[in-house]
Amino acid sequence: MLKINDTWMKDGFITSKGKKKFSFPDKEIYPGFTDSHTHLIQLGLKKSNLGLSGVKSKKELFKKLSIWIKNKSSKDIVIAEDWDESNWIEKEFPTKEELNRISRNKPIILRRVCGHIAIANDAALSRIPRGWEQINYSTGILKEVVVLKLNEIFPPSNQKLREAILLAQDELIELGIVSVHDMMIPDYFRAYQSLEREGKLKLFIYAFITEDYLDEIKELISSKKVKLAGIKIFMDGSIGARTAALQDYSYNSNGKGLLLKSKEQVQKLIEFANKNGYQLAFHAIGDLAIQTVLSGMEKNPKENPRRHRIEHFELARDDQIKEAVQKRIILSMQPNFLKWSKPGGLYEQALGRNYKRNNRFASILDEGGIITFGSDGMPYGPLNGLEHSTSAPFPSQKIDRKQAIKLYTEGGAFASFREKELRRLEKGGKGDLVVVDKDSIYITVINNKIEYLRS
Ligand SMILES: [Zn+2]
Repeated sequence: MLKINDTWMKDGFITSKGKKKFSFPDKEIYPGFTDSHTHLIQLGLKKSNLGLSGVKSKKELFKKLSIWIKNKSSKDIVIAEDWDESNWIEKEFPTKEELNRISRNKPIILRRVCGHIAIANDAALSRIPRGWEQINYSTGILKEVVVLKLNEIFPPSNQKLREAILLAQDELIELGIVSVHDMMIPDYFRAYQSLEREGKLKLFIYAFITEDYLDEIKELISSKKVKLAGIKIFMDGSIGARTAALQDYSYNSNGKGLLLKSKEQVQKLIEFANKNGYQLAFHAIGDLAIQTVLSGMEKNPKENPRRHRIEHFELARDDQIKEAVQKRIILSMQPNFLKWSKPGGLYEQALGRNYKRNNRFASILDEGGIITFGSDGMPYGPLNGLEHSTSAPFPSQKIDRKQAIKLYTEGGAFASFREKELRRLEKGGKGDLVVVDKDSIYITVINNKIEYLRS
């Protein structure tokens, strides 16, 4: 564990008001936290959209919406978030006709709290390129992938992207986060760098570009605070949606999920990445998806010098944990997902008896595995993840506070080739750190400057 040494205490932290000394007799001090799996822009865009979570009736919703769209032009797409009809008097979805009455020419989309369903008015429907099966044009209901990809169907302006980053950045720094491994598209990468050039970017951004943009990746050049890591690849879906690809497990509904790539495709990607110096992050949740990555990595050098990783690694079997350890694959996992692992919870509903064998952090560490912790934004907050992993429902998942902190600090540093920076900090050099007061963040320091101080 890091101790703040004499150099640090003597200098004090540099604040905007000059130098100031702090001492923390009853608090814990750690290197700043890394969240190893984030979607920062989505968080920021969501924060800048109209939020509907507190709404109690349709009438209230329409009133809020009318005020919100007043100053918008018909060019702007209006997205409102987090409605939940179960909290309303009417207990029914809003309709396309109702939204048409709010506006005929301004495009409006209301995204439900689950993130899998949305309602659009005719102006919005007419702007969505044709060819999506998940759109019902007569009811205006959008489902699944089309809802998830709204930010790509209606790309936000550069200005909006920049605002989104700054909004999300503030929230993450308050949570003690100083660096993120962020999943993104090339436009986002450029927006981060434009803020860096203006001195507004505080977080360190380690960027994984979605595989759909493989052609553009060569154009992206790392800078000091925005480093290109490599490519994010989807091998399967999620347990909640019954789309994680299963082999030994199966869904209560009898399905086995959906594998999105073959072993040969994984092999090709590995070859391409090793040749060009990219790190790969494979989203793989089910044991079939995990096995396909492991098998596809047969010819990867045994030290795994590019530090290729598997994101989530939720339903790994014993033999797969051993194989991943032996292949030195970085396992990028989310302790906050344990919220679905409680008896009677989402994972038991989906998987039945076998559900307990998920997210086995303790088993993986016992085998000598390399884990880094992140959140996938559900929700953000290392202290929340820490709470989940130290009070996990099953012994194979449960780790202690010290181990969990390590996975949020050293884990993230190693996964992004930044272990040297951490060593410099330990020797008293400039760096990022976080002061934790019981269960909340007291101070976040980035590059020796206080960026958050709890009031
Ligand atoms: Zn994700």
